[in-house]
Amino acid sequence: MNSLGMDVPGENIVELAGVTKVYAGGVAALKGVDLMIAPGEMVAIVGPSGSGKSTLLHMIGTLDRPTEGSVRVAGHEVGGLGDRELSALRARHIGFVFQQFHLAAGVSALDNVADGLLYGGVGLKERRERARDALERVGLGNRSGHRPHQLSGGEQQRVAVARAVVGEPDLLLADEPTGNLDSVAGAEVLALLDELNRAGTTVAIITHDLDVADRAPRRVRVRDGLIERAEVGTR
Ligand code: ADP
Ligand code: MG
Repeated sequence: MNSLGMDVPGENIVELAGVTKVYAGGVAALKGVDLMIAPGEMVAIVGPSGSGKSTLLHMIGTLDRPTEGSVRVAGHEVGGLGDRELSALRARHIGFVFQQFHLAAGVSALDNVADGLLYGGVGLKERRERARDALERVGLGNRSGHRPHQLSGGEQQRVAVARAVVGEPDLLLADEPTGNLDSVAGAEVLALLDELNRAGTTVAIITHDLDVADRAPRRVRVRDGLIERAEVGTR
C-alpha cells in the first residue's frame, strides 16, 4: 500500500476548517464552514436548494478544491495532494451516490458495480467477484445481468450504492440519494444506508428533505453557504 494507506487512528474522518468556495462568476457557495465527522457517524447535511450542500459534498469528497480553508479526509490534508493522489485517496476511502444514479447505459448491473474498483488495481475476475458480493449485499444478487433500463429506479440506486461500497470505503457520501425515487424505493435505499452504517461505514446524506434528515442521529443545517446549526437527534 502506498503512503495514502497511512491513517491516523482515532482521528476524524472529515475535518473542514474555514472552508470557502467562490465559483468562477463570483458566486460564494460556501462562506467559511467548519465541520467534523467522526468515524462511524451517520450525519444528514440538510438545507434548502441553493444553500451550498452539493458544493460541501464536493469539498468533503475531494472532487473540487476550496477557495480558502483546509480539508482533511482520512488524515490527509487535501490541499497538499496532486490530482493523482486525490484520485487514489478517493478510490481508497470514499464512495459516492448521486441523485441521478449515474450508471453506464447498456452495461450490466454486475459490470457497473465492478467499475467501482477500476482505480483500485484489481483484476477483472476479482472485480466481478466482489461486485457479485456487493450486489448480494444490496439485495440484487438476482439482477446482476440486468441493464439499467431493465431495473426500477430504486433498483438502479441500489446498484449505485453497491458500486459505491464495493471498494469498502470508510466514508459514503450520498447527495440527494432519494431525490428521484418514490417513497417506498426511497425508504429502501435509506434502510440500506443505515445497514451499511451499522456495519461500520461512515455515512453523510445530503438532502433538502426534512423527513430524510430527521432519520439521522446527527443533522448539520446549511443555509446560504454557512452551517447554521448542528444538532444531535434523539434516535
Ligand atoms: P445545493 O446543493 O444546496 O442546492 P449548490 O452547492 O449546488 O447548492 O449551489 C450553491 C450555490 O452555488 C448556488 O447559488 C449555485 O447556483 C452555485 N453553484 C453551484 N455550482 C456552481 C458552479 N459550478 N459554478 C457556478 N456556480 C455554482
Ligand atoms: Mg445539491
